[in-house]
Amino acid sequence: MSATTKELLTDLLAQIVSGGVEVIDLAQPLNEQTPVIRLPEPYANTGGFTYHRLSDYDEAGPAWYWNDFTAGEHVGTHFDAPRHWISGKGKNGVDTMPVEHMIGEACVVDVTRQCAENPDFLLSVEDILAFEAEHGRIPERAWFILYTGWGKYGQNPEKFFNIGEDGMPHTPGISVEASKFLAYERNVLGVGVETVGTDAGIAATFDPPFPTHYYMHEANRYGLAQLTNVDKLPARGAIVIATPLKITDGSGSPVRPIALVPKK
Ligand code: MN
Repeated sequence: MSATTKELLTDLLAQIVSGGVEVIDLAQPLNEQTPVIRLPEPYANTGGFTYHRLSDYDEAGPAWYWNDFTAGEHVGTHFDAPRHWISGKGKNGVDTMPVEHMIGEACVVDVTRQCAENPDFLLSVEDILAFEAEHGRIPERAWFILYTGWGKYGQNPEKFFNIGEDGMPHTPGISVEASKFLAYERNVLGVGVETVGTDAGIAATFDPPFPTHYYMHEANRYGLAQLTNVDKLPARGAIVIATPLKITDGSGSPVRPIALVPKK
């Protein structure tokens, strides 16, 4: 006999308390050193994260410490909503997306070996099918997470952006065909990556440019960027919870995603 949903939630909480289910922090630290994407002229750039001290138990506030901050929607570990991209114009923002879309199983494809050999590695449709042959079909409303190993460079801008002699960032991503496949042949919530954005570093040169943004957001799907601790996730079976701020008309938001991971 299957458990009632009430029993399931009670059991889940008990497992979180006992450590039977581990909670993994998928966010990079958010501070003034957090690397932010840099677009070439004439495009506008995000200002990154800045901190403004209000008081520190001092004359400005003798018994309290607090700060203001300013941050772009796409700074640090962050959420991309469909309306971020022209192909998703008029579709969901972070404020209008259904909250149940903030929770999904993680399907984690390990491409660390390929990315160590080739920083411009692009995941192909064949790679996705090979993942499915080993781990089963990507289920409905899963987060498809590209485990590149880039998370370990999250606090090291030089390695994180890996700018080549051509002036382009050389970081891995998802091919045009595989982006389209994930958007239209699989019913994923979206894709998660460890790099600064969901597209490869040289994706400005692709047709269409930035195909992961283009197809995922066209299909009203989401993105998670600058994740870390992806190495602590199994290929299947972890649950990712990623709740962006409810910014009115927001195109994205810094986020602190967590993963619930069954211990072996
Ligand atoms: Mn973004």
